[in-house]
Amino acid sequence: MERLKNFLEKNDIEFELNFDVSQISSIKLGGLLDIAIFPKSEKEFEKLLIFLYKKKFYYKVIGNVSNVLFIENIHYPVIITNKMNDKVVIDKNVVKVSAGVLVSKFCDILKKNGLSGYEGIIGIPATVGGAIINNAGAFGYSISDKLKSIKVFFNGKIFDIEKKEIKFGHHYSNLKGLIILSATFLFEFKNEYDIICLCNEFTYKRTNSQPSGLSLGSVFKQVNGKSAGFYIERAGLKNGRVGGIVISSKHANFFVNDKSGSVLDFLRLLAITQNLVDKEFGVMLVPEIEKVGDKNENFSRFSYSFKE
Ligand SMILES: Cc1cc2nc3c(=O)[nH]c(=O)nc-3n(C[C@H](O)[C@H](O)[C@H](O)COP(=O)(O)OP(=O)(O)OC[C@H]3O[C@@H](n4cnc5c(N)ncnc54)[C@H](O)[C@@H]3O)c2cc1C
Repeated sequence: MERLKNFLEKNDIEFELNFDVSQISSIKLGGLLDIAIFPKSEKEFEKLLIFLYKKKFYYKVIGNVSNVLFIENIHYPVIITNKMNDKVVIDKNVVKVSAGVLVSKFCDILKKNGLSGYEGIIGIPATVGGAIINNAGAFGYSISDKLKSIKVFFNGKIFDIEKKEIKFGHHYSNLKGLIILSATFLFEFKNEYDIICLCNEFTYKRTNSQPSGLSLGSVFKQVNGKSAGFYIERAGLKNGRVGGIVISSKHANFFVNDKSGSVLDFLRLLAITQNLVDKEFGVMLVPEIEKVGDKNENFSRFSYSFKE
């Protein structure tokens, strides 16, 4: 860890020791990270990844912490990209954007430039990198729709991957384990006023269908094309609560933290919901949220798997 700290100080890369990740998690839960690193540019991010690779660290890259639940204190470096805001380059209808840029900011820039295609995803509280990894989407729009290519770091190398080489599904990509540095998109031109109207329509729909409280978005994946909320609601679990975590009355697939909740409350509510839905419908709900620090954590998500 001392070597890493020296490297970060020497290269003026922001970091924080014993960082309380609940501060920035969208559900305001999670414990302490031994070291959280906040690259501010693609250049800093690349330099950092190369250092970690060469020194055989293993680590995790996180975006805007809107889909991950840190269930334990974490003792490996965690890179948080949501301050990496350096690049949105527009050349006619081709847009290149750093992985850490927030989807909301990206969509605002598209709107102002009369570029259409992402009106439905404007309210997703993700970074572009996190959204691509999960193929985030809403109202018939997905981040993969207008994607052209991504620039990635894998196994010590930086290279481009074209969209046609990637497998995307509903809130799924086969990119886990790769680190996204930036992405290039190809849009259509449209009248700015029409884009604004569509954005407003989808923002209204989102506000009406999702709770505004602290959450991680949808907790469970769809089941056979049907929303998990369908089963949770029919099992009579809306408003169900464990401690400070409650199943939203507005959207049964959202667990909301009333600000007094804990990770344990969340995990207990998740398990109870799975058990009751299974008992009632014979359907085992699969979490869409990702647990970090889980003993069963999917280590393929780490781009390097040796301890220092
Ligand atoms: C209120 C609310 C509403 C939501 N609505 C929607 C919705 O409408 N549609 C939808 O699809 N989702 C929605 N979500 C869920 C969430 O925003 C998405 O899953 C999003 O893709 C997560 O992006 P993130 O940047 O926060 O990633 P994080 O949650 O920080 O990380 C998610 C995954 O991406 C990986 N990752 C992040 N950045 C990179 C990178 N640069 N390179 C490699 N891996 C990376 C992480 O390791 C992790 O595995 C919602 C969440 C909330 C809280």
